[in-house]
This record gives sequence, C-alpha cells and structure tokens, in this order.
Amino acid sequence: MTNVPIEDTAATIAQIGRLREAGAGLVRVALRNEASLEYLKIVRQAVDMPLSADVHFNHRIAIGAIEAGIDKVRINPGNIGDDAKVREVVRAAKERSVPIRIGVNGGSIDRAKYPNLNAESLVASAMDHVRILENNDFFDIVVSIKASDVRLTVESNRLFASAAPYPLHVGLTEAGYGVSCVVQSAAAIGALLIDGIGDTIRVSMTGDPVEEVVVAKKILEAAGLRKAPVRIIACPTCGRTDPSLDLLSIAQEVEREMIARFGEALERSGRGIVVAVMGCEVNGPGEAAHADAGIAGGRGGAMLLFSRGEKLRRIAAGDAVCALADEVERIVREDSE
Ligand code: SF4
Repeated sequence: MTNVPIEDTAATIAQIGRLREAGAGLVRVALRNEASLEYLKIVRQAVDMPLSADVHFNHRIAIGAIEAGIDKVRINPGNIGDDAKVREVVRAAKERSVPIRIGVNGGSIDRAKYPNLNAESLVASAMDHVRILENNDFFDIVVSIKASDVRLTVESNRLFASAAPYPLHVGLTEAGYGVSCVVQSAAAIGALLIDGIGDTIRVSMTGDPVEEVVVAKKILEAAGLRKAPVRIIACPTCGRTDPSLDLLSIAQEVEREMIARFGEALERSGRGIVVAVMGCEVNGPGEAAHADAGIAGGRGGAMLLFSRGEKLRRIAAGDAVCALADEVERIVREDSE
C-alpha cells in the first residue's frame, strides 16, 4: 500500500514504480475524499500496475474509483449507509467486473454487537458485510480478516475459509516494524499459506512499503509458493569454523555476486539456484548436499568448493566467491543446454 497522499501524484507514481520493481502484484491507494478521485485518474493513467482503492463509508468515492479504472475496491458495504447506495456501488462494480474487498479487523468490528473479540466474532462481522453484497446478487467478493495478534488472525482466517467460498487477502494488521514485524507476519501469513489459505497477502510494516514487498516475497518463498532465483543457505557457524573466516561477509558477498551475475537470467527462466556458504569442510558439504554449489571453510584461510555434496577442490578464501560463481555459471549453462 502506498504511504504518500494520492494528491502528491508524482510521489505516488514513483512509489508504485518502486513497489512494482520490488515485486508487488497489486498496490492499494487510500482515497480520503471525493477530491482524491481527480488525482487517482492521473495516477491510473500513469501506471499499468493493478490498483486497489481503499475507501471508507462514502459510496460516491467507491463508484468514482471504479469509473476511474481501479481494479479492486476495499469498502465495507455495512458502512456505506442505506441500501440504495450499496446497490449503486454494486452496479458500478458489476459493470466493470471489479471485485469488492471486505476488510474486517479487530479495531473495526461493531463492539456493541460483538462485545468479545475472537475468531467467531471477526468471522461473523465479515459475514454481515458478505451477506449485504450477496443479497444484492454480488459475489465477486474478497475478504480480509486481520488482527494484530498472530493466533487470532490465523484462527479467524481458518474459520472463515472453512465457512465461506470467497478468496482471502491475508495479513496481520498493526504489525509494527523491523524484526518483530517480520517474525509475526511470517508466522501468521506463513501458517495460513501452508494450510492453503490466502489468495493475496500483504505485510503491514511501519516505514518504506518496499520493505513490505521484500518481506512478502520471502514469506512466499518460505511457504514454497515462489521460487527465489538465488537462494543462499549458510550455516550458523560453530567451534569448527576457522576463526580467520568472516562467514557472514562471505555469504553476503556471494549473494550480491550471484544476483548480479545470474539473477535476471534465472528470473526469466523460472529456474532457481541454491548456493551454500558453510563454516567447515567436515560437515558443510554434507549438510548442504541439496545445494547446487557451495563453499566451505577449511584450515588456514582455505575454502573447499563443492557441488551437490561432492567435493571439487580447495581454493584460497580470497578467490572462493569468484570460483563459486564460475561453478554456478557452468551448472546454469549445462542445465540450459
Ligand atoms: S557446517 Fe561446520 S561450521 Fe557450520 S555449523 Fe555445521 S559443523 Fe559447524
């Protein structure tokens, strides 16, 4: 989701470009009032990225966004007002085949109706909105049920998935920032994806939204739903690692080199390579036998080059990254022949 006002169209367009480059497949923009629609039109014309409009309460903004060419509208029909307004939004959405996303979260459910915040009340609240659309003969519905609590988010989405046929947009809300956000988002979204639940995902992170996309892609990779063109595996090191080796720096250098040399070609071909950087040659090649190629620390500053668990040769640590890249190039070339 962009985090600049849409009135700043240049910043919005630039941010959408950066999100696209980072791998986002759909970007949501917040429309705060009817005047926002003029700016949305400018943004819509400037980018070909699928866009979702975030609208609260006002049916005219939702309709205007649909007419401006938005690809999805996030609005809760129960908050629009009377039935006639809901019908107008539904008619506009149907005319242009635009799905409506219902978004329920712990902070927004009606506490008078649902005094207890739990999976049942979140799902019941989502279903209240769903039924309004269904009663208007509208079924192109996406639902998101989010909480800031990992367990509550997972349980609510599991419950909804077992009760209703609609696609789910999954994520954690108010997830914070940094390591804490990454771990909590990965736990919640990852658990659901591994269960086969979740059609789109969003990592909510305070700060640059590009980071949200980077983390989301890593979660998809961890859940086996996206193949990383280059995946680096590295051991945590232990007392067997030669103290002269700075394994973290070597692993980071290997990652940079692999992405620079092979990232684009691998992304295009859809193939992924796994490259290992291990602390010792005693256990490293065996522990990383599933890697396409790797290097492992030896004694006295040397490193061992290996491929699919087979030891190839020893090399000076200073030449290891280059030798590893050459070996990966050979493997990629052989595979493509
Ligand atoms: S590969 Fe070697 S250095 Fe790394 S954790 Fe295993 S035993 Fe320790």
